[in-house]
Amino acid sequence: MKVLMYSTRSYDKISFRKELGNYSNIEIKFTESQLNLTTVEMAKGFDAICIFVNDHCTTEVVAKLHEFGVKKILCRCVGTNNVDVNEAVHRGLGVYNVPAYSPESVAEHALALLMTVNRHTHKAYNRVRDNNFSLTGLSGYCLYGKTVGIIGYGKIGKAFAHICRGLGMRVIGYDPMIKSDMSFTIVDDVFFYSTPEGVFANADVISLHVPLLDSTKHMINKETISKMKDGVILINVSRGGLIDTEALIEANKKGKFFGIGLDVYEGEDDNVFTNHEDDILMNCITSRLTSFPNVVVTSHQAFLTDVALEQIAKKTLDNCIGKQ
Ligand code: NAD
Repeated sequence: MKVLMYSTRSYDKISFRKELGNYSNIEIKFTESQLNLTTVEMAKGFDAICIFVNDHCTTEVVAKLHEFGVKKILCRCVGTNNVDVNEAVHRGLGVYNVPAYSPESVAEHALALLMTVNRHTHKAYNRVRDNNFSLTGLSGYCLYGKTVGIIGYGKIGKAFAHICRGLGMRVIGYDPMIKSDMSFTIVDDVFFYSTPEGVFANADVISLHVPLLDSTKHMINKETISKMKDGVILINVSRGGLIDTEALIEANKKGKFFGIGLDVYEGEDDNVFTNHEDDILMNCITSRLTSFPNVVVTSHQAFLTDVALEQIAKKTLDNCIGKQ
């Protein structure tokens, strides 16, 4: 089985090469190129392609893959929102993902962002390096006893709830899968509202753990932001499209948020996993977000741990050989 791996970075090579010894009939060619309508040409002669979140597997790209005889699209991530799955299925290509890999790793990054924006460690780090030992502006919330609202109680949301309980936080949530005849229900010590509004109104910290679907796009928008407490902290390690960024920026300019931690954001595709330090960024959203002192942006790195990389490599290679 010949596989072309798009958007490869050094850590992918290391984790996949470590596992490849156990899969004698798979041969991988690594390329740093991102999959798009131009680079799809590179897939000629391969049985499968392996892609990541920033690759563009559009309708036209899928048609080309089919024309080249590619049989499998192996997503080495949870989400398949960057693949035209219907078109792939229609053309007989299999689309595979890694449904779960170390949800704790992603949840721990949500915690890292929360701790950073709350205690201003991004500012403190730079101040001390400049021999500025002033504490002005570094005051944060004591999270013990505060309320965290978890939107989406799947694998990662659960892992994040577990962490927050460890901090002594009160955990509330909303997930349409958790149904109740009443306006709330309690599961795993988490107080679930029957609508997201209950979470927006009561949470000091809101963390998003839902997939990007038509129904969840811009679920955080001008209207829902207005329902949140003033001084709320918002964390998003799921998908950028969950938040209407223009609305977020407008609200932050008016002082709505104590802090915002984003591992994902709209328009990240041209940035993620790429060193643009010598370039002038054309994406104004990125520049605007990073200009706020109370916003911390990381570049889609929540998954990046030893355990997650190992699990991703194993599951992707299993998908390649059709092993369940
Ligand atoms: P999951 O499928 O286990 O859980 C998602 C939950 O969201 C489900 O319980 C579902 O019922 C719920 N949900 C769906 N629509 C909702 C809505 N409108 N409101 C509230 N809840 C809703 O998924 P997961 O493994 O927990 O992953 C969540 C997301 O995290 C993924 O879809 C992916 O986009 C993102 N992710 C990001 C990274 C990263 O590196 N930043 C890594 C892995 C996953």
